[in-house]
Amino acid sequence: MHTDTLTALSEALAAKKVSAVELTETFLDRIARCNSELNAFVTVAADSALDDAKRADERIANGSATPLTGIPIAHKDIFCTEGLKTSCSSRMLDNFIAPYDATAVAKLRDAGVVLLGKTNMDEFAMGSSNETSYYGPVRNPWDTTKVPGGSSGGSAAAVAAGLCCAATGTDTGGSIRQPAALTGLTGIKPTYGRVSRYGMIAFASSLDQAGTLTRCAADAAAMLTVMAGFDPRDSTSLADPVPNYSACLETPWNAIRIGVPENFFDDGLDADVAAAVRDGLAVFEKLGATIKSIRLEHIGLSVPVYYVVAPAEASSNLSRYDGVRFGHRAENVDDLLDLYKRSRGEGFGAEVKRRILTGTYVLSTGYYDAYYLQAQKARQLIANDFKEAFTDVDLVVGPTTPTPAFGIGQKVDDPIQMYLNDIYTIGANLAGLPAMSIPCGLVDGLPVGLQLVAPHLSEERLLKAAHYFQLETDWHRQVPSDFA
Ligand code: GLN
Repeated sequence: MHTDTLTALSEALAAKKVSAVELTETFLDRIARCNSELNAFVTVAADSALDDAKRADERIANGSATPLTGIPIAHKDIFCTEGLKTSCSSRMLDNFIAPYDATAVAKLRDAGVVLLGKTNMDEFAMGSSNETSYYGPVRNPWDTTKVPGGSSGGSAAAVAAGLCCAATGTDTGGSIRQPAALTGLTGIKPTYGRVSRYGMIAFASSLDQAGTLTRCAADAAAMLTVMAGFDPRDSTSLADPVPNYSACLETPWNAIRIGVPENFFDDGLDADVAAAVRDGLAVFEKLGATIKSIRLEHIGLSVPVYYVVAPAEASSNLSRYDGVRFGHRAENVDDLLDLYKRSRGEGFGAEVKRRILTGTYVLSTGYYDAYYLQAQKARQLIANDFKEAFTDVDLVVGPTTPTPAFGIGQKVDDPIQMYLNDIYTIGANLAGLPAMSIPCGLVDGLPVGLQLVAPHLSEERLLKAAHYFQLETDWHRQVPSDFA
């Protein structure tokens, strides 16, 4: 049961083949047995999960259930959850109990999900391997010597290993799609502004977007239908009506035009990953898609642009952690300045400090024009490339990551190598576009992801393409043998 899709479990709950309490007990038992090996959860909310489950069973009994009622999920520990620790996997917030729910959390709660707990992540979502967490690395269920990807690595490992049915994640430069690819899951980062950022701890506000990690596109559609929508508490939230994404999947397939950026298939891409991605494209062709080569002229600038813009915004967002209002506070300090310095020095890990230093530097007088302003201009060029591509194609498709999962420790001492993991994913964040990763093969027993990018607010098109791909293939049904 722990490897069933959300869609299957939702049907089983509705048909009363299983109760929400039974389902919750099953997953809590899985967590108790497997979490020490994977380190996927940082907080397990067993008691409140069982309360959620009892309430869900009542709703199912009295006919007020939604498709998500009774579904055991987990939240990345970047989402504020009322009364439950919300750490962002940082020592800085190790003592922080959120006084309110993030909007995405509240919406899922209202739909009746069971919250099993909070998942491990890179500290403040900065990373591509889940190794910057204060609570230690997460292990990939496909091979526990490998990383699960980051920064939503705990959510990815938890779903892939069957410790929860679905999980939330956030994606600033690839943090949903990259771990989805490395653990064989379906990950969606919606259009910037589609899901409210209220109560989601800020990293780089112009890039951050919430989404999901699930077993398949149909599961993602069910989650997103609930999570998306306008929120007056988030000034960048989009007012456009939210379609029922699940219903969209059932509409007939119409032939789509796929653009493949040939510059994604250069030397940086592992040959076996490239072959799996090409096989994936052949599946779309079989479905009636036309495939066309395109060039995204400025995409090569996306990593340098991102590593100016994201740290700049992070340095500003993280200035709120000062040891005064909440979070870690240093003891026995000499004066106010000492309090600031020591609280931040002790509370933040090395990667977070690197980002704050970089961000402060690129925003400082004399460097602002040379770095930040230039980066903003290049960002617009990247966005324009996608816009132009979408005049001719419906989706842009390519690899999600350059390689399958790499070894724990392999890249931690080389930030540039680590940053290059996001080379294919960052463009969609810079342009605010919706994007997805779906499993398209295995290389040496490790999953490979295929990335789909669509125009603004075309989540339906993305989900439908992914769904039809998954009707033709069974890569998304593979589970890591040690956790089957
Ligand atoms: N790996 C990228 C970074 O470290 C992206 C992280 C993310 O999407 N949150 O910034």
